[in-house]
Amino acid sequence: MHIGKSYIFLIILAIPIVVLLYQHEAHSNPIQENEPESVNISEELPENKNTSLRVIVEENNIFSTVAAKAGLDEKQSFKLYEELKPVYDLANIKIGRQFIFNSNQDGELVEIIYNIDNEQELIVSRALISEDWRAVVNQIDYEIREKTIEGQLRGSLYQSALDQGADEKVIIQFAESLEYSIDFANDPREGDKYKFVYEERFRDGQFVMSGRVLAGAYLNNNKLYQSFYYPASSDGYNYYDENGNSVQKMFLRAPLSFKYISSPFTTGSRYVEKFGVATKHRAVDYAAAAGTPIRSIGSGVVISAGWSNAGYGNVTKIKHDSVYSTLYAHQSKIIVKKGERVSQGQIIGYVGSTGFSTGPHLHLEMIKNGVNVDPAKEILPPGKPIDAADKENFNNMIEIMKDKIKI
Ligand SMILES: [Zn+2]
Repeated sequence: MHIGKSYIFLIILAIPIVVLLYQHEAHSNPIQENEPESVNISEELPENKNTSLRVIVEENNIFSTVAAKAGLDEKQSFKLYEELKPVYDLANIKIGRQFIFNSNQDGELVEIIYNIDNEQELIVSRALISEDWRAVVNQIDYEIREKTIEGQLRGSLYQSALDQGADEKVIIQFAESLEYSIDFANDPREGDKYKFVYEERFRDGQFVMSGRVLAGAYLNNNKLYQSFYYPASSDGYNYYDENGNSVQKMFLRAPLSFKYISSPFTTGSRYVEKFGVATKHRAVDYAAAAGTPIRSIGSGVVISAGWSNAGYGNVTKIKHDSVYSTLYAHQSKIIVKKGERVSQGQIIGYVGSTGFSTGPHLHLEMIKNGVNVDPAKEILPPGKPIDAADKENFNNMIEIMKDKIKI
């Protein structure tokens, strides 16, 4: 991208070595969350740059507001905005994101860097000889380091992993890769062990944020579950078990997401009553706060949704194929309609206590060929296998990872 010439403002800028940091509550920006209070970012700049100004986008800021902090007047910033538009529309700048304005020893602005999101940044730079401006959107090149978290359950997996120094995002990623095999409301036992490896992203030696979970193991009641990240398809989930089968199976093991199950989460859930032929409770009950989202454990079509006089209260029934259907009862609110197609994991309603119910909980039934069955005992086919072309690479990769997650 070629952007005009001769900007007067370039030579009138004399930016002191100062860093502006603005506090706000943009949780969406891990970069900002990890910023120290004040940093002299002018250190170790390339030769032609010796001052650097960092401006964090605040609420209601537009580009000209931000640019004004770097000394650009309205006219200058509008002109720059217009010229950059074919490469990046600065109308899209987001609260919490940062601009860096770099100037040379003569105080001339030579570079503007804007971090568009966690993956991309806009770099506007002035060519040294021609003095033309060029803008480009770059993929951010992080230095990746691996971090391993391991522990043993005393309370919840969530709390345990937090105590070991993992952040919420990676704990949920790790748990989600196992949610097709483990019901985190019912299955965990005290003494269960787990271990997972994830990426941490660094720039210029500074931690920026955690990345993806690469591999994980969970030893539940002496049964080992493993998941491995392998980017085999662009639209797939990309987590596989040790046999190279997608961890995604026909059903999720629980109708409540892991993040609503562990006790430190505000809505905390625990299991109340399991499937029992003797007790005539041919369902699984999950205690959860009213309003906790309920997800369909498999994809399918809603075959009924509404009030039931049979004690179910607000109830939804979903048909998954010619064999299986599932039923979700006592909801406070249903958000799907009869005939609607739902995907696996889709939120279909919220936990309540409607019908014959003594307190907020979700009553889940699984019906197989017309008969209620225990979802915990259903043996479902494994997930889709990895492409044959990827198998060898995958096997080589998991040999290394298996060692790293050995419990
Ligand atoms: Zn029940």
